[in-house]
Amino acid sequence: MTANSLVESDRTHLIHPVTAFRTHEKRGATVLTEGKGMYLSDIEGNRLLDAFAGLWCVNVGYGQESIVEAAAEQMRRLPYATGYFHYANEPAIRLAERLAELSPPGLDRVYFTLGGSDAVDSAIRFIVHYFNATGRPAKKQMIALDKGYHGSSTTGAGLTGLPAFHRQFDVPHAWQHHIPAPYAYRSPVGSDPQAIIDHSVAQLRAKVEELGAGNVAAFFAEPVQGSGGVIVPPKGWLKAMRALCDELDILLVVDEVITGFGRTGPMFGCEHEGVSPDLMTVAKGLTSGYAPMGAVLMNDKVYAGIADGPDNHLPIGHGFTYSGHPVSAAVGLEVMRLYTEGGILGNGQVRGVRLGEGLAALADHPLVGDVRHTGMLAALELVADKRTKARFDGALDISNRLATAGYRNGIIFRAFADGTIGLAPAISCDADDMEVLLARLRATLDAVLDEPDVRRA
Ligand code: PMP
Repeated sequence: MTANSLVESDRTHLIHPVTAFRTHEKRGATVLTEGKGMYLSDIEGNRLLDAFAGLWCVNVGYGQESIVEAAAEQMRRLPYATGYFHYANEPAIRLAERLAELSPPGLDRVYFTLGGSDAVDSAIRFIVHYFNATGRPAKKQMIALDKGYHGSSTTGAGLTGLPAFHRQFDVPHAWQHHIPAPYAYRSPVGSDPQAIIDHSVAQLRAKVEELGAGNVAAFFAEPVQGSGGVIVPPKGWLKAMRALCDELDILLVVDEVITGFGRTGPMFGCEHEGVSPDLMTVAKGLTSGYAPMGAVLMNDKVYAGIADGPDNHLPIGHGFTYSGHPVSAAVGLEVMRLYTEGGILGNGQVRGVRLGEGLAALADHPLVGDVRHTGMLAALELVADKRTKARFDGALDISNRLATAGYRNGIIFRAFADGTIGLAPAISCDADDMEVLLARLRATLDAVLDEPDVRRA
């Protein structure tokens, strides 16, 4: 197929996620054809540095042959095995064991899904089951953060705290609630870290009091809010939320779909805080995007609550055909090996320091209002006016301009609707590619600043 006929066929047949149907038909697709290391090629022959690891997922970079081999070998040996009816397969067992070893203490039981949304959805279902099984059926209310993202399943989308994921789909559900995000740049209590922590604690406490502690099941949070604009809470925040959940007798669910697997430095984001949640959701970096897979990990309190409940002789009414898929699991095992023995986790920790320095040097750029950074995860919040923190006029379509300017400068990043640039390069990024990334980012900011109507804004 020629480039034109592919784009035409895409227009006619392919529905894209998180995309306006008619806008897409007008604009047409950017068809990606190949990836190698940090670089993607498109069908027009452009070579682009991917500073967003696909969709915060290709942590080990493109073209890792050992992963291809692991997948091919598993496909030849056993391409599929169900986990129903007590069947299992070796890669799924070994990956579950590996995740239990690598994850924070206590999270020893693993349920595999196909991605992050169904990991969150499964966590919700396990929590409902847990409180039914332990004789507290009233505990069903769930609380999450504004600006949080917990996927777009029918249940998880309501825990997501982004109006763009609510308005067309009649969520949040009545049992889903939100408290303000720990968003220092625009916090009503100022940017002092302790004030932000105290504010979150007070908000969660007030919400639980309002709903009644006997009715609240769980609090969901990302260690760093990714899709909400890379909001990095102050040090001590997650620890304080863990302590409060214990005090209020509600479960803590940490959603590590983005922050897991070295994205913020350590293997998991909650390691910064020495926190072990009751349940933890993962996906993306689990297979580094080479095959679809997610998981929900749980501690023994939740597992035993379900396992020893009154209907424990009945199978759980929850299952996916592809739970523990052997090819995805084989990929996941090889990806874990690359992070650990392959040195990619350590590489990301070193490179993340340079990313932070490079972004700090952009803080006085006229467009940059806020720099947020942890490990290989970062954002630049661009503003129309640095003094007032005013956002860009909607008519400017700043997100589109940023993405277009980035593309012209050979770099792909996440251009959020409000003018925030999200960065999540592969943690395998080498020193030279990091310099290219930082240079192209600055060139992109300069190009946007040069657009006459942006300067006027
Ligand atoms: N939780 C978080 C924190 C996420 O970032 C995402 C995806 N961006 C999801 C859940 C949903 O994952 P998926 O897109 O794989 O369904």
